[in-house]
Amino acid sequence: MAQVFQATHVGRVRYNNEDSLAVIEPKTYVVADGMGGASAGEVASQMLVETVKNFLLKTEQLWDEKILAQAILLANDKILNTARRHEEYYGMGTTATILHVEGGRGYFAHVGDSRLYLLRNGALRQITEDHSYVETLIRRGEITIEEARFHPMKNVLTQAVGAMTNPEIDTLNFSTERGDIFLLCTDGLTNMVDDAAIAKILQTAENPATALIEAALEAGGKDNVTVIVAGVD
Ligand code: CA
Repeated sequence: MAQVFQATHVGRVRYNNEDSLAVIEPKTYVVADGMGGASAGEVASQMLVETVKNFLLKTEQLWDEKILAQAILLANDKILNTARRHEEYYGMGTTATILHVEGGRGYFAHVGDSRLYLLRNGALRQITEDHSYVETLIRRGEITIEEARFHPMKNVLTQAVGAMTNPEIDTLNFSTERGDIFLLCTDGLTNMVDDAAIAKILQTAENPATALIEAALEAGGKDNVTVIVAGVD
C-alpha cells in the first residue's frame, strides 16, 4: 500500500494555524489555507475541509474532478452564509486544493494559491496554477518568478472559497503512474523552500512531510505550513 504522510505547523511567527488538511479514504487529500481577521481564517479552512469530507462520504459515484468542484461550491456557500451571519467572520475565505486518486487516474479541483505537485521520474512539476495577483503578473510577463517570491502583493488572491459567490475552480483529470508522488501544500512551504529543495526532500527523506515542515521552519517559518505527501502504488 502506498504511504501517505501529512503534517501541519503554525510556523515560527504566527500565533494561530489557519491551515487545515484532511486525508479522506479512499485516497483523497485536501489542503486549505484560511484567511480573515481574528480566528476567521481557521473557521473558513476548517469549514472547507469538513464540508468536502461530509459531501464526498455521502457521494456514491466516482469522486471525479466535477464532484470535487461541487464539494468546493457547497463549502463556498456555507462559508459565505456563515460570514454574512457573523460580523467577526466578515471577509473570511480559504484556498482549496483537493486530489483524488483512483483506477490509474488523478482528479483534482483547486482554488487559490495552495499547490499540487507531482514528482515523476525524479522531476517535480507544479500541476495547479496559483490564483494570485503575482501569478497574473508573471503570466503577463511583468515580473519574474524570482521577483514574485518577494512581491509586496504576494498574498493577494484572485480567487478564494467563501469570499465570492462564484469562485472559478480549476479542475483536471490525468493518468497516474506507479511510483508517482503527489505533494499538496500551502504557501507557507513554497514561499520558504524552492522546488529543487522540495524535490530532493521528496526523494530522500524517510518522512517527507515532517522533513518539508522542518525545511520551512529552518528557512524562517514565516507562515503556517501544511503538507500531504501521497505515493501511487
Ligand atoms: Ca498561508
